[in-house]
Amino acid sequence: MYYKQTGLKGLNPRMINQILKGSEEMKRIRSCMQCGECSASCPSGRFTAMRTRKLIHSALLGVEKVLQEPELWMCTTCYRCLERCPRRVPVTDVIIALRNIAALEGYIHENMKNTIKTLQKSGHAVPLGGPDSVYTKQRIALNLDPIPPTVQKYPEALEEVKKLFEISKFKERISLEW
Ligand code: SF4
Ligand code: SF4
Repeated sequence: MYYKQTGLKGLNPRMINQILKGSEEMKRIRSCMQCGECSASCPSGRFTAMRTRKLIHSALLGVEKVLQEPELWMCTTCYRCLERCPRRVPVTDVIIALRNIAALEGYIHENMKNTIKTLQKSGHAVPLGGPDSVYTKQRIALNLDPIPPTVQKYPEALEEVKKLFEISKFKERISLEW
């Protein structure tokens, strides 16, 4: 395991060190004053159990349990929290860093695993659907090309996506079966 080192009461000081490696801006996490503005402005938190302030607090303390919590995967990466944070803490990037650690530890959320598999198969995290899909019909009704100029339209681009998965040893690194 990349990270294993359970410390006192499930706190792991290596977690914050790993997050701080990301960029200079990550150091701002140390100035978090737990005001909760990020939680108050989070659109996902309104409908889920995710509490952004709590995630930042867990990252600072190195609470290992946070890596296994489904809330970690409920952020939509909209960056509203960063816009509102009075201390300019790069909240979204911290959450992504936590997810990266969680992924390497084998704790990827099931829904995210399915999204990754779909991306590998189709080149899209959310596939566009076949000729009978509502999406395609709407494009035709608007006189648009039924298939937009994305990976779905170009089989050679999909091969490149698959190659990237292979070169990066993505599957092996996060112990993903497909
Ligand atoms: S808004 Fe910024 S300072 Fe306030 S709790 Fe969130 S991250 Fe910390
Ligand atoms: S980036 Fe994530 S945590 Fe921040 S406001 Fe958007 S959904 Fe909430």
